[in-house]
Amino acid sequence: MTHPLRDHDLHTMKRPISDLRTMLSSAVLPHLSALAALFFPGPCALCGEDLGESAEGGVCVPCWAGLPVRVGPGCERCDLPGVPKGERCPDCHALRRVPIQVPQIIAAYEYREAFVTLHRLLKFLGQRTLLNPLAARMVLSHQMRSDYSAELVVPVPPDPLRWGARRRTTRQLAGQVASGLELPFHPSALRKTRTTPSQTRQTRQQRLQGLRGAFAANGAEIKDKRVLLIDDIVTTGTTVSQAASTLLKAGAAEVRALTLARTPQQQQVLAPPPIVR
Ligand SMILES: [Zn+2]
Ligand SMILES: [Zn+2]
Repeated sequence: MTHPLRDHDLHTMKRPISDLRTMLSSAVLPHLSALAALFFPGPCALCGEDLGESAEGGVCVPCWAGLPVRVGPGCERCDLPGVPKGERCPDCHALRRVPIQVPQIIAAYEYREAFVTLHRLLKFLGQRTLLNPLAARMVLSHQMRSDYSAELVVPVPPDPLRWGARRRTTRQLAGQVASGLELPFHPSALRKTRTTPSQTRQTRQQRLQGLRGAFAANGAEIKDKRVLLIDDIVTTGTTVSQAASTLLKAGAAEVRALTLARTPQQQQVLAPPPIVR
């Protein structure tokens, strides 16, 4: 005779195990497939078609061409798309009485659609072959959309608790942008003094408070210089503003920012789509 408790135990154990299996297959398999693509180049990491000739970074030419490059008018301060030329988005307009530390942010891409997947490959799976083409696009965006004559390049530093590709990505991009623009690279001009909470679901005000005093600058490297600050994704512009404020207080003459991408709406949180294989 079966003990009633044993039936119950089996029932309650089976569900978590099958839930766990489903969870693992949906969370891990796309990453494993993308990781395999690093070592066995073949299909494009975005569309799964054959890479073909002239593919860069494991992504086919049509997929590169289909990425949402940031063009057209945008907020004069934070580059939010869709804002008429010379005007500010409502959030930046509300800051009109607050001194603006970064008078210009230029983004190479819009953080949406296939770009979100591409960014995951770069930042969370460390697909380094993407660095070159992405940095080249940033250089091109700067050359086409800005008249800023920067004197040196400084990356937004990583959080002290970030490791792996998440720690390296912005610095690596900034290094390649500096060489593309033939400017000196100063990765130690700015550092983060403490860890700050994840900003993804915070309001602009919460971000501002969380980042206050979180950066420190080495004044000797940037004194009286026009700095080009590099970050990967800009959402509200709070991080680059705080970083720029620290550089300006340490003696920088001016700070403008060049970023890999910009979210299409202020404070928008996008759930990344699964990696297509
Ligand atoms: Zn493709
Ligand atoms: Zn704006």
